[in-house]
Amino acid sequence: PDNRSLTVVVLGASGDLAKKKTYPALFSLFLRDLLPSTTIIYGYARSHIEISDFKKRIAQGLKGNEEKKQEFLNLLHYHSGQYDEKKAYDEFEKLIDAEEQKKASSVAHNRLFYMAIPPSIFIEVSIGIQGSLLSKSGWSRVIVEKPFGRDLTTSRQLANDLGKLFKEKDLFRIDHYLGKEMVQNLMVLRFANAVFEPLWSKSHISSITITFKEDIGTEGRGGYFDQFGIIRDVMQNHLLQVLSLVAMEPPVSLNADDITNEKVKLLRCIQPIKLDEVVLGQYVSDDSGKHPSYTDDDGVPKDSVTPTYAAAVFHINNPRWRGMPFILKCGKALDERKTEVRIQFKRPDNFLFRDEEISRNELVMRIQPGEAVYLKLLTKKPGLENSIEQTELDLSYRHRFENLDLPDAYERLILDAIKGDHNLFVRDDELDVAWQIFTPLLEQIENLKVQPEPYKFGSRGPKSADELSKKFGFVRSLGYNWPGNSPK
Ligand code: NAP
Ligand code: NAP
Repeated sequence: PDNRSLTVVVLGASGDLAKKKTYPALFSLFLRDLLPSTTIIYGYARSHIEISDFKKRIAQGLKGNEEKKQEFLNLLHYHSGQYDEKKAYDEFEKLIDAEEQKKASSVAHNRLFYMAIPPSIFIEVSIGIQGSLLSKSGWSRVIVEKPFGRDLTTSRQLANDLGKLFKEKDLFRIDHYLGKEMVQNLMVLRFANAVFEPLWSKSHISSITITFKEDIGTEGRGGYFDQFGIIRDVMQNHLLQVLSLVAMEPPVSLNADDITNEKVKLLRCIQPIKLDEVVLGQYVSDDSGKHPSYTDDDGVPKDSVTPTYAAAVFHINNPRWRGMPFILKCGKALDERKTEVRIQFKRPDNFLFRDEEISRNELVMRIQPGEAVYLKLLTKKPGLENSIEQTELDLSYRHRFENLDLPDAYERLILDAIKGDHNLFVRDDELDVAWQIFTPLLEQIENLKVQPEPYKFGSRGPKSADELSKKFGFVRSLGYNWPGNSPK
């Protein structure tokens, strides 16, 4: 409502995330008329940048109507200052305050702080906000982006330090996967349809595979990536979030805390991951030599054993899932870009058909790109023949929904933070359990200096990953031809 103004403060506004994600998301909200008319957007970072240059920089990341772009750019301000000096924040506060008074003097001023900065300075910036920048008349909320630590100890330390400065209700930890359309659709698909829930257990499903594939390497960000590796970068957060939504029990209500309670309960049932049920890989140059090896990237030590691919089997010890494997796979520099959930059902319990004719039913939820839900099933080949063919029930979003205009994950997340809705953000205890699951495995990998298996840039990843899936019951269906174009 317009009886409260909104000031968005982007800390680290000179950086990559701000330009690529934060400002474009704010612009989309502006285009949809979802920002109050009294909105002010203030960027802050150390770099001295003239406001005209700053606007040019931000404009590069914006798409759409030129006139609207100009209107949006008019809302932007930029101030440079240090991250560790109280005096700098006090000065900044005066500027924000003056701007708020100018724009809307008689209303309460809400402030949303977006931390687009490296984790090494999360705390000093939080101290700066807490000491000088909090709103005196409205709410103050803080959005933080991963990495939230690199293991259980550092994550707890960070949670503890942040907890001393802000209340949990004012903290919004982004896992941008939660902002994706298909990830939110998981709840509807599971709990609003009578046909799925009765099948949703080990009684009918033989395995669930959650896959994240990128067709690019680290491309200059290897120095940063090397400190983390693919397990911390993707599996511990994005894939685990998807896993918990796929596997949790029905929540008591759609309230954020009720949903998170179920996710935490589920995560606590995950058994320790066994090293011999994990495959690690690292990409190497392909035959053409056009694509570099991981260790060719800037800042990556030549002898780095950091995995750029990982597959791991998860066992959930509860009545619904005990004994049924969840296979999580993620990697860079692979043959395609996709994220999907693949639910493979058991073989039907009859002997009417020949073994080789029966391929497994699969329900696939493609999270990106080309959002789709499809169910692979067997039908009689039309005509006089009596053979069986693999087909599908296909719900491709771009065919089914007219004028499909899916908001970017960041757009939805920023809007939810403005509304104070925590549903799509990561709660502190949820993060803690996620680290409890992964820390022993990560320590083992690092202590033993486990050598990753090399795989070629542009391939499907290490061969052992397919063997692992097979060992845990995944049966690849051969002979399935999809007539459409792959959404690559
Ligand atoms: P970035 O460009 O490296 O850093 C943002 C800004 O912070 C820089 O412009 C710089 O501004 C300041 N900064 C950088 N290193 C610093 C240091 N060592 N000490 C003090 N200030 C420093 O980072 P980013 O890519 O925008 O990412 C920001 C955060 O989002 C990180 O936590 C990152 O992990 C996370 N994230 C990024 C992406 C992405 O696509 N880029 C995706 C997911 C998550 P000044 O020098 O002008 O102060
Ligand atoms: P698929 O691409 O054939 O993959 C099926 C599964 O088999 C994946 O888990 C994959 O692992 C694995 N796999 C692939 N090649 C393998 C190999 N050589 N050895 C061992 N395992 C292998 O997927 P699909 O569901 O059967 O669909 C086939 C094509 O049709 C896909 O391109 C799909 O996008 C398209 N399609 C699209 C829609 C739609 O957009 N609406 C609907 C139906 C089908 P990885 O994931 O690790 O590669």
